[in-house]
Amino acid sequence: MDDLIVIGGSFAGLAGALQLVRARRKVTVIDTGLPRNRFAPHSHGLLGHDHKAPLDILAEARQQLTRYPTLNLVNARATAIAGALDDFSVTLDSGEVLKSRRILLAYGIADQMPDLPGFAECWGQSIVPCPYCDGFEVAGKHWGLLWSGPHAAHAASLFLDWTDHLTIFADGHDIAPEIRADLARRNIELVEGKVTGIAHRDGQISAVTLDGARSVAIDVLFAHPRNRPSANLHEALGIALVENPLGATIKIDDRRETNVPGIYAAGDLANPMASVTLATSQGAMAAIFAQQSMLK
Ligand SMILES: Cc1cc2nc3c(=O)[nH]c(=O)nc-3n(C[C@H](O)[C@H](O)[C@H](O)COP(=O)(O)OP(=O)(O)OC[C@H]3O[C@@H](n4cnc5c(N)ncnc54)[C@H](O)[C@@H]3O)c2cc1C
Repeated sequence: MDDLIVIGGSFAGLAGALQLVRARRKVTVIDTGLPRNRFAPHSHGLLGHDHKAPLDILAEARQQLTRYPTLNLVNARATAIAGALDDFSVTLDSGEVLKSRRILLAYGIADQMPDLPGFAECWGQSIVPCPYCDGFEVAGKHWGLLWSGPHAAHAASLFLDWTDHLTIFADGHDIAPEIRADLARRNIELVEGKVTGIAHRDGQISAVTLDGARSVAIDVLFAHPRNRPSANLHEALGIALVENPLGATIKIDDRRETNVPGIYAAGDLANPMASVTLATSQGAMAAIFAQQSMLK
């Protein structure tokens, strides 16, 4: 029996595993190798790893973890969780069943690509979600923001720290008059109409097409597709969620424990503010709280 099974071996999951194997606890990490930022050529903002390829950072982390004898890294998909505190079972897609006293859910979220020609091809390269992740490299250029609801108003004002040339694509949304007035006051251009396509070459955006007819040239587009958890393992357990404007995250308490005793959650799955730095710190804390609930 393991002390901890981690489901999802990316930034949050591996950071959690590292803390517990260093405490000589038995840990199994189950992973399918599909981190959310795998579409991006570089990861930014993680101290000591800035501008490295996301998969290179994870490969290095996995390599470093191999020196710990109590770690078991399994390349597989977890398909079900059963049991209760001190006696959980996790089923793999191979049919194998693993047992543990605690579980850390770190399987992240999956962005749902809109049905827009060209969008998926540019995702991670020239259509990106986060200015802290990718803004510096395109600072001062002509940015677009695909409006996804009232929460996008904050992004519009934030982006002015990176560029003075920002165009908002309303994409058929009914934007409130006070938001329109605020955008006008900040000299942010608002383009009406439904976005119908993305013009690009090899993933580098050149323009947004509107109503199938006109197009507006831009250098980079920021967008916030709806998302959902990458797996549904929490559903059968009755784990509570918190809704947010783009999807839902797992509800946790201040020790990162869900409403099911012994099951913890970390990373994008339990935090709508996505970041590798936050995911690693939350994964570490979740695992430490799990360990401290098992002291002799
Ligand atoms: C385009 C893009 C660019 C980004 N750029 C940056 C950046 O530059 N800097 C930054 O800080 N953040 C960036 N982010 C955010 C960053 O990707 C996330 O915050 C981070 O990946 C979250 O880590 P995580 O461990 O929570 O989840 P993830 O990295 O998504 O990892 C989840 C893991 O769980 C695995 N998994 C899923 N289901 C199962 C299952 N059933 N069984 C086993 N394993 C499973 C997956 O294969 C994956 O390895 C970017 C995001 C996007 C979309």
